[in-house]
Amino acid sequence: MEKYELQKLRDLPIEGVAERLGLRVSRHKCLCPFHDDHHASLSFKVSKNTFRCFVCDAKGGTIDLVMRFLNKPFREACRWLADENCIILDEWKPAAIEQKPFDASRYERFFERPWLNEEARRFLFDERRLDARVVRWCRLTSWRDRQGTPWLQTPYYDREGRLVGVQNRNLVRGATPRFRFPSGSQCGIYNLPVLNLLKPGDELYITEGCSDCWAMLSAGHKAIAIPSATLLSQKDVELLKSLNSSPYGGELEGGFSFHMFPDRDEPGERLFLQLQEVLPSLEHHQLPPGCKDFSDYYLMTRQPPAASAPQPDG
Ligand SMILES: [Zn+2]
Repeated sequence: MEKYELQKLRDLPIEGVAERLGLRVSRHKCLCPFHDDHHASLSFKVSKNTFRCFVCDAKGGTIDLVMRFLNKPFREACRWLADENCIILDEWKPAAIEQKPFDASRYERFFERPWLNEEARRFLFDERRLDARVVRWCRLTSWRDRQGTPWLQTPYYDREGRLVGVQNRNLVRGATPRFRFPSGSQCGIYNLPVLNLLKPGDELYITEGCSDCWAMLSAGHKAIAIPSATLLSQKDVELLKSLNSSPYGGELEGGFSFHMFPDRDEPGERLFLQLQEVLPSLEHHQLPPGCKDFSDYYLMTRQPPAASAPQPDG
């Protein structure tokens, strides 16, 4: 395995990795899965991208966390991290069946007539309060595997509307793995077809991950999502750069502008700075206190006022 590939896995935000493993992270802490813990003894150091338990002294980085938690040897842990985050590792590409490029014809028909099962409707409309028109535009659909596990299926299209990848999200709360991608899926920048709708003077919001993108779209903005800065392929970087310098792009007067509400934490700010290198005119918007990401903010604007506010009778 190449050194830079390993570094990509080590650079994955460790709290995100923990969450994908099903750990509940809050204020950079969680219950330690390596001893019988009742007090959130495991803490994350975001600046060093490491974890450490102050009771049992389990510690390390992203790969160590996966190795210990899933009880996998080093290479398998790396592979799990790569698959979960849709990183293509050179060394693993030629493995017999996975050599196959993404076979869009196997998946296209699922998105022609999207169907949302009960779990998907609960997730999208009750929990996330998304606009039904957005869910239709994104052609979200759902299915159930042989074990009965419900999955939300998100298609990734390129700018020309060709299906290039599929993300499956496990709809069972806390289940692992949370995401699965069919072999060869290219889940880079999400919602690229929206670029064809941009007009001079428009605002384009850049979000992190599909969920924030759906919230942004539901709030009435045009938006694309990137997986995270460490996962941006060179091709994606080129695409963003081309947006910036296209006839309508950010560098020219009357062009469209780029906006972002970074997650309210250190990785969020780091991502903003990294993107700003590609899109120098990217505008920073601050989330209000108590909202860790745009989805939170969106929900806050959609939910009834807190208990302290006067409520209508009944
Ligand atoms: Zn521990």
